[in-house]
Amino acid sequence: MGDESGFILTKIIATLGPASDELGVIVRLIEEGARVFRINFSHGSFAEFDRRLAAVKRASQVTGVPVGVLGDLSGPKIRVGKVREGGVQLEVGAEVHFQSESVVGGTEGGVAGWPVVFSTNVPTFIDDVQPGQRVLIDDGAVRMLAVEKVGQDEGRRLVCRVTVGGRVTSAKGVNLPDTAVSVPSLTDYDWLCVDWAIERGIDFLALSFVRQAQDVRLLKDRLAKAADPSGSSIPVIAKIEKPQAVDDLEAIVQESDGVMVARGDLGVEMDITAVPIIQKRIIATAHDYGKPVIVATQMLQSMIESPWPTRAEVSDVANAIFDGADAVMLSGETAVGKHPVEAVHIMGQIARTTLAEMAHWPAQPSGPPRKLQESHYRTAALAHGVSVVVRDLGARLMGIWSQRGGGARYLSQNRPTIPIVAASSDPAVLRRMTLLYAVVPVLMDPPASLEDFAERIDRLIVDRGWGRLGDQVVLVAGEPIGIPGVTNTLLIRRLGGVVRPT
Ligand code: ATP
Ligand code: MG
Ligand code: MG
Repeated sequence: MGDESGFILTKIIATLGPASDELGVIVRLIEEGARVFRINFSHGSFAEFDRRLAAVKRASQVTGVPVGVLGDLSGPKIRVGKVREGGVQLEVGAEVHFQSESVVGGTEGGVAGWPVVFSTNVPTFIDDVQPGQRVLIDDGAVRMLAVEKVGQDEGRRLVCRVTVGGRVTSAKGVNLPDTAVSVPSLTDYDWLCVDWAIERGIDFLALSFVRQAQDVRLLKDRLAKAADPSGSSIPVIAKIEKPQAVDDLEAIVQESDGVMVARGDLGVEMDITAVPIIQKRIIATAHDYGKPVIVATQMLQSMIESPWPTRAEVSDVANAIFDGADAVMLSGETAVGKHPVEAVHIMGQIARTTLAEMAHWPAQPSGPPRKLQESHYRTAALAHGVSVVVRDLGARLMGIWSQRGGGARYLSQNRPTIPIVAASSDPAVLRRMTLLYAVVPVLMDPPASLEDFAERIDRLIVDRGWGRLGDQVVLVAGEPIGIPGVTNTLLIRRLGGVVRPT
């Protein structure tokens, strides 16, 4: 049976930006199904990040829905500097100069026919790039070739010739597939963003351009020092977008708390035709280790302009869900697009349709994680058993008391086709559940006993209209309840304690 409670089991992440800064818009995005909001540190100022964060918190209060915030660290991503208002349109054959000293990008001296000048955020850029090498801008949409280096000292420039034209605006990404660039895996700016994220209690941090597991460890070490009293620190999502990361995938997945298939840069750094294969491989590896996985970039790209997606985009979102993604992400569609609410709406509709079909499949794209190495084996085993029980019973919902979130994670890893209502008294834990496939976080005071929990979750499910009296539900908790790490009990009940033998 499919899920009839109205939940979208695959999570939707919406990137915030000028198109989605207002409280009203964010509320609408939540109503349409967004459960995680991404703040991309590559665009905007700390004042803007603060405003966005405050708006998300407020929207969560207004709707009563726990939502998570994902901070996206730029990492060693090369970007063009500021570009004049409205950007610069580059035509094929045009000459473009890069210089080290920062400059507002545009036609030199504003004189038509003169070369366009840009700077980047990497001081050694014009030394690193050699004539003959490719310089790709905006996920490869605009392309040029380095031709020569001219000038002396301060006046030195790298001269490029445009091979594929297009518009370049502020802070667009630059990829150098032919060049080895010397940049640290976390820049000074990244560390400032990390401090901001810790101070504000951000729920997840993504790291761009991870090259090796060590990059993730470096960030995790810093976050561990700022852990809360229970020892939990901000989870780290590794963005897989470099060939080196694809080569070292298993080690990176093991080190991370989740991964993102960051297809924008991946499609430029690697052979674009390999992206679908790499996507499947990353998702499968994440499943093996029981880590959540996000598919990102250009999912509904045409909706930046158009109120309706293309067939290919709809297929792409559905296929990411068929592959078993925990979450699908919108970038420019909600950050700068003309139809942010419609984009989330259609993504939710695609997810519902796709998940309803998958609910009939004899097996889900992943079984229990094959390579999970965690200490709470009992909980993991129980979670696997529960997934079989709910399928055999045709249960409506699962409910779990998951004070620290671990139990909810194990249930999610088994890819049930019904919602997992996961209760905790800790709002921060609930926010970290928002990324997990099928998990519906709910706030609840600690129950006195297993029976107390059963009665309260029962009432909550009926009150919110998530199930009807007499529906079968499967509850999971620890006995005695409230001891972290002890999840050992499975209860099969009918909502409202209605007795209706089958
Ligand atoms: P990443 O490689 O981390 O995905 P990105 O530059 O591709 O970075 P996205 O968040 O994917 O950024 O958004 C796509 C585009 O939308 C950006 O290139 C940028 O032009 C625009 N954009 C996104 N967020 C903002 C923002 N907050 N302010 C202005 N423009 C933004
Ligand atoms: Mg992007
Ligand atoms: Mg990227």
